[in-house]
Amino acid sequence: MAGLLFGTGGTPHSSKTSSTIDGIKRIAELGLGCMEIEFVQGVRMGEAGARLVAEIAAGEGVKLSAHAPYFINLNAHEPEKIRASQDRILQTARIAAICGAESVVFHAAFYLGDLPEEAYSRVKKYLGEVMHQLKRGNNRAWIRPEIMGKPSQFGTPEEILNLCAELEGVAPCIDFAHWHARTGVFNSYQEFASILREIKERLGRAALDDMHIHVSGIAYGKKGETKHLNLKESDFSYVELLQALRHYEARGVVICESPNLEEDALLLQETYNTLLKTG
Ligand SMILES: [Zn+2]
Repeated sequence: MAGLLFGTGGTPHSSKTSSTIDGIKRIAELGLGCMEIEFVQGVRMGEAGARLVAEIAAGEGVKLSAHAPYFINLNAHEPEKIRASQDRILQTARIAAICGAESVVFHAAFYLGDLPEEAYSRVKKYLGEVMHQLKRGNNRAWIRPEIMGKPSQFGTPEEILNLCAELEGVAPCIDFAHWHARTGVFNSYQEFASILREIKERLGRAALDDMHIHVSGIAYGKKGETKHLNLKESDFSYVELLQALRHYEARGVVICESPNLEEDALLLQETYNTLLKTG
């Protein structure tokens, strides 16, 4: 695939209805390239519905990914909560595969006051079990833990890249807005480029050739992310991010999670295309 595809997290606001199928059709009408299906409140799509989604997406030329439910914590202290979290990832991956989605994004865990390295070893163990089951079921979707925006949440770039390096079939979801909100910095060309270099060093060039990126404007305070904003109402340096992605020849999908969804997805796409032309 050449370059980057741009799209929305969920069905665009201007779709005929909020259904996934109308969302895919609207993405194509707008000239965008991808959409993330938001199963964030639960996987409420059956197999027949997923097959239809796959058919429509293939016909419209829209690349799909899926976001797993928010209610996942692979560092939960109760075994039943771990099992429920694992099931939610598996359920999302199963329906995503039928939809033809190549990636499943999820929020891995909360620290719950544990040392980060304790949380890491639990997350790695329980995610490893999920990967084993997916492999047995011949499910090839990339499982992508996301970089998170609050210091209470598991998911620094280092933690995410370590999981990807250690577990087969796991790849990163790089949410640049989250990392900016969490640190208060990471908002310049040089800093974005340093993350891309880190990805290349840890996971190889192939990881830059198949990236999954989340972008939005973002508001933040001492405890990190407070809410998503539209890009132009935020301080997020999206032009510098796009410059870094271009210079490192990153390929893959960019999912826009601004409140205005398709407006900012189109802004990102147009800005990126202008950069491609002007060099
Ligand atoms: Zn997310």
